[in-house]
Amino acid sequence: MAPSIRSLHHVTATVAEPSPDVRFYTGVLGLRLVKRTVNFDNPGVYHLYYGDERGNPSTLMTTFPYAGKGVRVGTIGAGQITVTSFSVPVGSLEFWRDRLGAQDQAFTTGTERFGERSLMLEDPSGLNIELLEGTGDSRAPWISPGVEPEAAVRGVHGVTLVVRRASDSIRFATEVLGLEVAGRTGRRTRLAAANGGPGSYLEVLESEHAPDAVNGLGTVHHVAMAVKGDEEQLAFQERLRSGGYQVTDVRDRQYFRSIYFREPGGILYEIATEGPGFTLDEDLSELGTVLKLPPWEEENRDSIEAALPPIQDENE
Ligand code: ZN
Repeated sequence: MAPSIRSLHHVTATVAEPSPDVRFYTGVLGLRLVKRTVNFDNPGVYHLYYGDERGNPSTLMTTFPYAGKGVRVGTIGAGQITVTSFSVPVGSLEFWRDRLGAQDQAFTTGTERFGERSLMLEDPSGLNIELLEGTGDSRAPWISPGVEPEAAVRGVHGVTLVVRRASDSIRFATEVLGLEVAGRTGRRTRLAAANGGPGSYLEVLESEHAPDAVNGLGTVHHVAMAVKGDEEQLAFQERLRSGGYQVTDVRDRQYFRSIYFREPGGILYEIATEGPGFTLDEDLSELGTVLKLPPWEEENRDSIEAALPPIQDENE
C-alpha cells in the first residue's frame, strides 16, 4: 500500500528571545508548552514545543530562540513559509478580538478565504500568525486560563508557502507526497493531506513580487508532515530518492523520527513519524516543566544549562 501523509506534524521557526516566545504561545494563544529541550543539532539553543495536552501531531508549533547566538534577523519572502495559521472555532473571532485587545496585542482582520475568516497578528519575533476559523475541526483543545473552551485554539490550521512558480510546488505535493488540491482562490491553492480539514493544509501562494526569503530570526524554518511510522517514512524516502530528490537519512528526534528535503519552491519539508510522542520521557501532567535532554547530551547537562538563558514564564 502506498504511504500517505496523514496531517501536518509541526511548524518550526527561528525566533528571538525565549521568554517572550513562551508568553506569546502559552499566554496569548493558550497553547501548552509540551516540551522544553535543546536543538539537537545545536544544544546551545532551546527547542520549545507548543501544542495540545499531549502535543499531538498537527497541533505543534516549535521554536528555536536564537537571539544573541549570532543569527541575523531574517526576511520573510518567496521560498519560505510566510504565515502560520492556527485553527479556532467558527464564531470565536469576537472572543479573540477581545482577548488580544486586552493584552495590547496588535492585530488586523484578515481576508476571508474558502469561507473562513481570520485575524492576523505577529508573534514577538515578527512571525506572521493567523487565527483562522477552522471549519469542521474536531480536535480537542488544551484549555489554559482565560480561554473559553468554545474559543480555544484547536491546533495548527495550515501554513502559507510563497513561491515563484506555484505549478512546480503543487505538482511535487500532489505527485510525490500524495496531497490533494482542496481549493483554489486567486493565486492561492489549498492542498490537503489524507485526513483533510484543519491541521492538514498547505496553501501555496504564487508571487513574483515578494522579496527573496532569508532565513533568520522571525522566520519559519520548515514544516513537517506526519506519517504513521517508520515503514511509511522509509517508503517516502525511497520514493524521493528514486525521483532524484535529495533527502536526508532518518534523524532521531527522540519524540519522533525525521527526514528532510526541499520542495521545488525552495521550502524545507520534513516527514516525521507520529510516535513515540512527548510522554516518552515525562508524565503527561509534567510535560514542558523541566529541561529535557536527549540521552547523548545528558553528560553535558551542566554546561548546557549554564549557557541557556533562564525562561521567565509569567503564566506559571
Ligand atoms: Zn521539524
